[in-house]
Amino acid sequence: MDVSELQSINLASIIKEPGSTSAEGVIRNEIEGGSAPLPLQGDAVWSVTVSSAGEEYWLSGEVHGTVVMECRRCLKPAPQEVDAYFQHLLQYDPAVSELTLVEGEDGADVYHFGEPDLDLSFFISQAFALAMPLTALCDESCKGLCPVCGADLNDGDCGHVVEAPVSSALADLGKFLDEV
Ligand SMILES: [Zn+2]
Ligand SMILES: [Zn+2]
Repeated sequence: MDVSELQSINLASIIKEPGSTSAEGVIRNEIEGGSAPLPLQGDAVWSVTVSSAGEEYWLSGEVHGTVVMECRRCLKPAPQEVDAYFQHLLQYDPAVSELTLVEGEDGADVYHFGEPDLDLSFFISQAFALAMPLTALCDESCKGLCPVCGADLNDGDCGHVVEAPVSSALADLGKFLDEV
């Protein structure tokens, strides 16, 4: 098994003695997102450094990759380059079984972790998803799909005259009101 494909960092050494430690790796195929996996074109790469900061640890990292989104006009794949950076304050607490977000009194959020082998997948996927554009275009000049027959208008004109959707909705409403 290729260790670099694990999204984790072992903090045992800096839990024992103050210092800093780093890890890096690759993510293949897709990034596990919150609601749906994010498909990748090629590999995404990530790196993190964790440093002791008194009782706490400062995590700073980055992830770079190309996510395949859907063109908002023609629905064809539209790859988008994503460069994401993240920084979080961590605290080691052997009592917690999973990563827990604790809001500090001063407004600073601290993630409590219970295993010296810290799973980074949450931090990586959260940062990556936040850095993604909300929507994508395959090309600035994409003509989209014909609303009548669904033809890709980038491939040519299908001959349909496009009516504004709002006017047809009003026409339907008018018909409905006539029938009542
Ligand atoms: Zn398009
Ligand atoms: Zn058409």
